[in-house]
Amino acid sequence: MSDQVVFEASPEAKGKAKQFRLIAVLAWLLAMAGQVYAILKLISDDTLVMLIVAIVVILILAITGSTLWKKANKLDPASEAEPTRFFIQNQLGAIMGVLAFLPLVLMILTNKNISGKTKGIAGSIAALAMVAAGITGADFDPPSIEKYTEEINAQNEAARSLNINSDNVYWSKAGNKYHAYDDCQYIKGKALSSGSIKDSWEEKGISELCKVCAKKAAKSAVPAEVKELVAPE
Ligand SMILES: [Zn+2]
Repeated sequence: MSDQVVFEASPEAKGKAKQFRLIAVLAWLLAMAGQVYAILKLISDDTLVMLIVAIVVILILAITGSTLWKKANKLDPASEAEPTRFFIQNQLGAIMGVLAFLPLVLMILTNKNISGKTKGIAGSIAALAMVAAGITGADFDPPSIEKYTEEINAQNEAARSLNINSDNVYWSKAGNKYHAYDDCQYIKGKALSSGSIKDSWEEKGISELCKVCAKKAAKSAVPAEVKELVAPE
C-alpha cells in the first residue's frame, strides 16, 4: 500500500450538503408544525379524514427531510472517530421521523373524546406512519470519512493495476462514476471535471469507475485484477 490518501469533502460538496441539511431541517420543522396542528385541531370523530390527510402530509415531509439529510451525509460524511456525533448525524432522520409522530400517536391513544373506532383507525395509521418514517430515516449503511478513505485507496490501487492514471480521471456533475477516458460514451458532450480519483470522491461523495472504461482499460491488464475492479465489495 503506497500513496495512501485521506478523504476530505471539497468546499463545493460541503456547500451542497449544507443546503440539503437546511432544507431537511425546514421539512422537519413543517412536519412538527403539522403534528402540533393535528394534535390541537384534528383529533375528533368529525375530522378523522382530515387527520389521515395530515398524517400523510407529515409523513411526506418527514421522508423528504431524511432523504435530503442522508444525501448531505453522503457528500459530507461524519467521522467514526466521534461515535456519538457519528450516530446522531447518521440516524437523525430516524429520530426526527419518530418524533414527528410519537406525540400524535400518544395523544390519539389517550384521547377520551373520540370513539373506539376512530381511535383504532387513526391510532394505527399514525403508528404505521411513525414506523415508516423511522425506517426510511435510518441509515443502515452510514457513510464515513474512514469508509471513503478506505474505498478511495482501494480504487486507486485497482485503477493503477489497470494502467489507469488515478490522478487523471474524468466525471460529469450528475452520476456517481468516474471515467478513465474523456471520450467515454457516457460523458460525451457533457461538461466534465477532471482530477484524481480522490478529487472525484471529494466533489461527489461516492464515486466508482465506469464499467465501460474499466472494460476498455482491462484489455491491456491482468484478468484477475479486472474482476476485482468491475465487481467491488
Ligand atoms: Zn466511462
